[in-house]
Order: sequence, then structure tokens, then C-alpha cells
Amino acid sequence: MAKVMAVNCGSSSLKFKLYEMPEEKVITSGIVERIGHEDAIFQIKVGDNKLKEILSVKDHGEAVQIVMDAMIKHHIINDIHEIKATGHRVVQGGPYFKESTPFNEDTYKKIESLIPLAPLHNQAHLVGYNAFKKVLPNTPAVAVFDTAFHQTMAPEDYAYPIKKEYAEKYMIRRYGAHGTSHKYLSEVGDKLLGDKENKRLIICHLGSGASISATKDGKCVATSMGLTPLGGIMMNTRTGDMDPSVYYQIQKMSGKSYEEIFQEFNKQSGLFGVSGVSNDSRDVSNEANNGNEDAKLALDLWSRRIADFIGQYYVRLGGCDMIIFSAGIGENAPELRALVLNKIKEALNVDIDWNKNNEARGIEEEISTPTSKIKVYVIPTDEEVMIARDAYKLIKE
Ligand code: AMP
Repeated sequence: MAKVMAVNCGSSSLKFKLYEMPEEKVITSGIVERIGHEDAIFQIKVGDNKLKEILSVKDHGEAVQIVMDAMIKHHIINDIHEIKATGHRVVQGGPYFKESTPFNEDTYKKIESLIPLAPLHNQAHLVGYNAFKKVLPNTPAVAVFDTAFHQTMAPEDYAYPIKKEYAEKYMIRRYGAHGTSHKYLSEVGDKLLGDKENKRLIICHLGSGASISATKDGKCVATSMGLTPLGGIMMNTRTGDMDPSVYYQIQKMSGKSYEEIFQEFNKQSGLFGVSGVSNDSRDVSNEANNGNEDAKLALDLWSRRIADFIGQYYVRLGGCDMIIFSAGIGENAPELRALVLNKIKEALNVDIDWNKNNEARGIEEEISTPTSKIKVYVIPTDEEVMIARDAYKLIKE
């Protein structure tokens, strides 16, 4: 038995989950938000209680210390050295990382060199890693990449039709994202399919950020997110794929900078931009039910893009055995799943048990009928357990 910690550091946040391995038992979890502020928020689970504290947290180093002190104070651990390994989520692994990789000088330098491709994320991950290294200098750490699972894609699935010079010089290609979630869901989906050979899955990770991937026998064949998480399907605040000249035209007409428009495409578009309501799909859904036409259009666009990708991946895989819905929206919003399913059911011979669809909220559930040509499942994702597994591997080997 060993305790390992899954860590997800953002530019002003630190999320953590402590596991007892190999049982995969969650001992505690929590978050430090608003790092760098006098009124940072620290939350930690102690048994069934969630404790919350507002306090000054100068930097990530202080945040790690606060987490460790709280775990000792609440008798979750007796000593910080009980934590035998840490696993750190890293958004961009570029073409370098096909799997989770122990942190060493080379890993660190490569993650650093990829900062231009994920400026906010990769920088923050390294700040987080350094903060842990200071407190636990001899504890092994592993980097778990959001992009690694998608490295099995063939050039025809990841290359962009741009000048070769740009692709090579600036490493411009599709990398995808949410790979840890897609990998977890493909493993669960493949297990549910049992002994069948040639398992073809279409996995819809529909959270605030969202992506779809096509997998064959546990390997990623195609994924919707692109060079950055802006690509693919329409999301809560991101545009997803568009004619690139939309960028050019808005820039020319509005006089705004490319940077400003890039931020708008990331943070003020998608469901939020089209509906003008909110960046939370629940609010958009409620408004649409109240007759708000912009909210309705937003959801129609959203579900149309997802249905189109499912159709595309059906062709790419030469058929499909299972469609999986997961993440915040995919797990919890039956009415939004229904919007997508109604757009694919006829062409793909998908038959849904609508009662089951309505009941499936935050639980694993088959929502298709036995006669459906494709099985449709709701499966809660678990990226943290994948990080914990990779961290545990470090000390097991
Ligand atoms: P995630 O990024 O996976 O945490 O997902 C966040 C998204 O899931 C937000 O747009 C939420 O509105 C949506 N979401 C979470 N719970 C529900 C729910 N019960 N019904 C509808 N949408 C939900």
C-alpha cells in the first residue's frame, strides 16, 4: 500500500487528490484557488466534510505547504513522506510524449519548450511541479500529458493543410486534449464490450471544454480538438472549428488585435457567445425552455456540431460499437444528450431508451435499447485515477 497524489496546477489554482494505491481509494481531495491573492480559497475534504478557508496564499509553494499542513492537522497523514509519488497533469506534451513520463531534467526542458503552444497551462504546470519539489525533494513525480493518448493518430488525421515549412518549424499540427479522460473512457468502454475484436468507440467528453475522439482497440485514431483546445466542436465559451477567414474578417472589420479576438474566440464564444445568456449550459438550457430564440440556436448549433463529428468518426472507424457520453454535460444533462441523439439516431440506427437517458445522471448507465445497432453509454470520467495509476507505476517498477 502506498499513498500517491494526483495534482492539477493552473495559473492560480492547485487541485489535488490523495489516493491509497493500489486500491485506488480516495483519501482526500481539495483545491486552492486564487493563488497570489490575499483572499485565496482553500478547500479540503476531511471524511464526509468539506472544510473551507479564506486566507492569503502568496504563490504555489505556499499553497503546497498549506495542503500538507492541513493533511497533517486533520490526521489524514502523519508525515508528508507518507506521500510516495506525485502525478502532475500537463496539458501540452507536443510530439515528444507518447505516454506518461517521469519528471527529470529532460522532461522538464521539453515541457518548458512547449510553453509557446500552451502558454497559460504548461507554465503553470512547471510552477506547480517546482512547488512540490521544494516540499518533497526526493519524492518521484510523473508528468501525465493530455496529449499523449492522441499520439497514435496517423498523419492524415493530425496534419493541417498548411505549408510544410510552418508545420515543421512551428510544430503546427493537431495534438488534441482531454487525452487522459479519453483513455480512461476507452478502457471502460472496451471492457464493457467484452471479448469482441476490433472495438470501435466514439467518445464524447462534453464538459465546459469538450472534445470527441474515435478509438479502435484502445488506440486513438482521431480527435476533434486541434493545435489548441479552441478547435473541434463548439463548447461553452469556445468556437470550435470555423472557416479561418472568420478570424481575418473580424480583425479587419473591428480593428481589434489578433490577441483580443483569440481571447474572445476562447472565452466569449460558443454557447455563451451565441446565446448571450451564460457560459453554463444549464442556464442556456433553461432559457431555451423559456422560449429564448438565441439560446435555442446556441443549443442547435452545439448539438449539430457534435452530431457531425459523430458521423465523421463513424465513417473514419468504418462503423461503431459504442458511443460514450461523459464529463459535466455528457454525464448530467439528459436533455442535451437527447438533442445530439435525435440528430444521429436515424442515420446510425441508434435506438434510445429515453427513460434510461433521463435517469442517467452522474452514473454509469447503458441508455440504448438491446436492439440498437450501436450501444450508447453514459460513463463518468475519472482523469485523476489515471494520474494516480501512473504515479503508482513509478514506485512499483
Ligand atoms: P466540466 O468541465 O466537465 O466540469 O463540465 C462543466 C459543464 O457541465 C458546465 O457547462 C455545466 O453547466 C455542465 N453541467 C454540470 N452539471 C450539470 C447538470 N446537472 N445539468 C446540465 N449541465 C451540467
